[in-house]
Amino acid sequence: MNLENARTALKKYYGYDSFRPLQAEVIQAIYNKKDVLLLMPTGGGKSVCFQIPAVTMEGTCIVVSPLISLMKDQVEAMRANGIRASYLNSSLTYPEQQAVENDLFNGHLDLLYTSPEKMASQEFMPLLRSAKICLFAIDEAHCISSWGHDFRPEYRQLRFLKKTFPDVPVMALTATADKLTRKDIVVQAELRNPEIFIASFDRPNLSLEVRPGRKKLEQIIEFIEKRPNQPGIVYCLSRKSTEMLANKLRDNGINAAAYHAGLDEHTRPKVQEDFINDKTTVICATIAFGMGIDKSNVRWVIHYNLPKNIEGYYQEIGRSGRDGSEADTLLFYSAGDVAMLREFITEGDSQHREIQLAKLDRMHQYATALICRRKILLNYFNETMLENCGNCDVCKNPPKDFDGTVIAQKALSAVSRLDEQVGTGMLVDVLRGSKSYNLVSSGFDKIKTYGAGKDIRQEDWFFYLEQLVNQGLIEIAYDDHSKIKLTDASKSVLFAGQKVQLVRAEILQKRKEEEAAKTTTRTKRTTERQRVRDELFEHLRQLRLDLARKKGVPPYIIFGDATLEEMAAERPTTEADLSQISGVGEQKLREFGRVFLDGIQEFLLTKKDEGMRIAGSTYLETFRLYKQGATVDEIAAQRGMQVTTVFSHYAYLYEKGENINIWSFINKAEAQRVAEVLHGMEPPFKLQDVFIALKEEVEYGKIRLGIAWYNKQSKHVS
Ligand code: ADP
Ligand code: ZN
Repeated sequence: MNLENARTALKKYYGYDSFRPLQAEVIQAIYNKKDVLLLMPTGGGKSVCFQIPAVTMEGTCIVVSPLISLMKDQVEAMRANGIRASYLNSSLTYPEQQAVENDLFNGHLDLLYTSPEKMASQEFMPLLRSAKICLFAIDEAHCISSWGHDFRPEYRQLRFLKKTFPDVPVMALTATADKLTRKDIVVQAELRNPEIFIASFDRPNLSLEVRPGRKKLEQIIEFIEKRPNQPGIVYCLSRKSTEMLANKLRDNGINAAAYHAGLDEHTRPKVQEDFINDKTTVICATIAFGMGIDKSNVRWVIHYNLPKNIEGYYQEIGRSGRDGSEADTLLFYSAGDVAMLREFITEGDSQHREIQLAKLDRMHQYATALICRRKILLNYFNETMLENCGNCDVCKNPPKDFDGTVIAQKALSAVSRLDEQVGTGMLVDVLRGSKSYNLVSSGFDKIKTYGAGKDIRQEDWFFYLEQLVNQGLIEIAYDDHSKIKLTDASKSVLFAGQKVQLVRAEILQKRKEEEAAKTTTRTKRTTERQRVRDELFEHLRQLRLDLARKKGVPPYIIFGDATLEEMAAERPTTEADLSQISGVGEQKLREFGRVFLDGIQEFLLTKKDEGMRIAGSTYLETFRLYKQGATVDEIAAQRGMQVTTVFSHYAYLYEKGENINIWSFINKAEAQRVAEVLHGMEPPFKLQDVFIALKEEVEYGKIRLGIAWYNKQSKHVS
């Protein structure tokens, strides 16, 4: 086996032209019979790493996975690509299991997914021994380590693999593993001198944004309305807030549902399924949602509250954009969330608590950072990124500092004069000279700094106070009604002339304006061509949905969003062109090609009827009339063209793989005569030369068809 075989298989089964980073290297290692440990983020393309060896090597690849609920979908996705895959787990009936086992025994499977329990069971062993196995792939391999966050004791038994099958390579795969877990996987699985591959954890297609957590509902509705029909998840901290939010969104006409562990056993899978099948667009969920699902076209993720740590945050936003297409993520940050999360951290011994607090701090720093956010994330996972990413809110609107000493002095002085007895809301009211009842009745309008910050807008004050907190110049006493207190550092600002740098609040306004200007990635393209492209994408999405409903599979199993996007941009109208689109492998071309080609052709003709100029539409027009049963003469008359031109359209369409029955216009003997003449000629063939060579006995139209037939045949031969 070599990488050429692998590349051919990648095109044939998946319709992809090239490997992603590390895929080729991993596959080569397996061809070399090496054990492999592969760390790759979700969406990085791990599956291809064992599926390609599975379809190119002799024997079956056994995939061990703890996620029984995913197996069916994964197997379905592979079958849609023409791969012979099955699964064995406790959800199957006995006869079903037997059938699969027979297939394994008879060598009829490229891949078999199974659970660790099944693998280790006594009755499975003899079958494994008698089957031809090319590779063991251990998915979610961190489950084998008690250092990992998801230890499963039954995984430990997998160490028998190398003992029993020393010559079969083992590939351990995971998306999450720190250094300790990584080492432990190698030890626990008893991998022999494995090649270790660590992919970058960067997910450049995910945009990153953090906003102050005020008026969240309003912001979320606006966000969703700009992304019509785009599936997304809002993560909330509590069950109650998922329900509350889902209700509010529905009140606003958004197709949303809540998901949390408290739903009954019928509702929960139903909610999940409807989301997978694009029936529900928005899910408001607790963080449990998304673990057991494999939906590749989640287009955005919102965090309604600050997550506990960066690992969790990264995993959750990582559930969007798995197909590699653009996805947007938005995190709402508020100091109140930090306080609440701190309170939650009460479990475990003091060391455990300290670690959790430190992790929360890092999350907090991320949320309030003024440098490229992706740098911070990757840095957290021990990766260094030199350039700014250009796809986070900080990169898009770099903050500008200014000398904020006076602002800081006003704020600190007010805190001091209020005897550190008020929270941020009241502090800002005092600074802005509000006449609220509470304020006046407390006598706060009498203090010296009352109204000293009138010129600064309320939300800008919040922004500045947040910065003062982050710089340690004030602190919020979460254990005392979130009152604002001075710190040691405050004194140097108040009394020692210490300067304070702040980031301009205008940035908030600018980000807002940008968001307002930004409609969806799809509708933001404003030119005519782009508008048509969006429209075609929607059309194809609908086709995909109809097809998925008919077949009872999730839409992304038919084609991914990226594939539909490429179709909308390239507008393939023939099979040959469609097969060039990334994601269109042989099986899907056969099974779904016609539906999508018809869809694109129809769409383009409609556009042409509306007066748009569409390249290549003249062929489509002829083809439409042909399909309606018009004769050559009728088409020529209706379209005001020569009969020969109509034949040349037929020839073009036929050569491109369209269903034109040329044999109703030319017989085999005539075609053979044309072919014989062509055989002695150099392409490109001139009609007139062929006509003369055939002693002017065959009409031009037939010659056109004869040439097409000849071309198509020689293409197949070469
Ligand atoms: P993981 O298992 O690492 O989360 P997947 O194997 O599910 O990732 O791959 C994520 C997405 O990327 C899938 O839609 C997959 O088809 C696609 N993909 C994988 N390899 C390639 C490739 N070489 N070219 C284009 N798309 C790819
Ligand atoms: Zn950035």
